[in-house]
Amino acid sequence: MLMYSYMKKGIHPKYYPNATVKCACGNTFKVGSTREYIEIEVCSKCHPFYTGKEKLVDTAGRVEKFKERLAKKREYRTKKEKEKARKSKRKSKK
Ligand SMILES: [Zn+2]
Repeated sequence: MLMYSYMKKGIHPKYYPNATVKCACGNTFKVGSTREYIEIEVCSKCHPFYTGKEKLVDTAGRVEKFKERLAKKREYRTKKEKEKARKSKRKSKK
């Protein structure tokens, strides 16, 4: 006799339709998950994208360093563009 089950037990984890998600900001909400309890660092209530506020999640200051690097890159690029413009002007005079 062939006993074949499409819903193989052990493959499908238990699904919690009302799993509790707790955020670092204190906000909790329910979500469907395979885990009954989930802890997160940012949620839609405290994420800067939603709040519009700048909240530093990054404690190592990597965000600041990235901004610095970006600013330097821009500076460098504008300098190069100015040089290019100068050079092309000279060429057109000849
Ligand atoms: Zn949150």
